[in-house]
Amino acid sequence: MPHEPDHTDGNSLAGPLAEILSVDATTGWWRCPECGRSGPVAQLHVYGPEPGLTARCPGCAHIALRLVRAGDHVWLSMGGPADTFRFPVASRPPDATP
Ligand SMILES: [Zn+2]
Repeated sequence: MPHEPDHTDGNSLAGPLAEILSVDATTGWWRCPECGRSGPVAQLHVYGPEPGLTARCPGCAHIALRLVRAGDHVWLSMGGPADTFRFPVASRPPDATP
């Protein structure tokens, strides 16, 4: 009897992720794991643009999000260095701001 896999491949995330990634992310809600402050992403304090954008908690400066535009890709880290994703985007000059 063949073994049934207990998982699907990453293509099964296409629909659920498309719902999240197609919205205006600044309307999302964020809660700081350090100080407990919460609020819309739009209220985070953003530093940059070089070497990328860093969004910090307005209460304690904990890093909530990092975004780096590099050529035809965007590197995104949300919540910690282990939570990094890479998304293909349209190419633009390397000296353009993120
Ligand atoms: Zn905080």
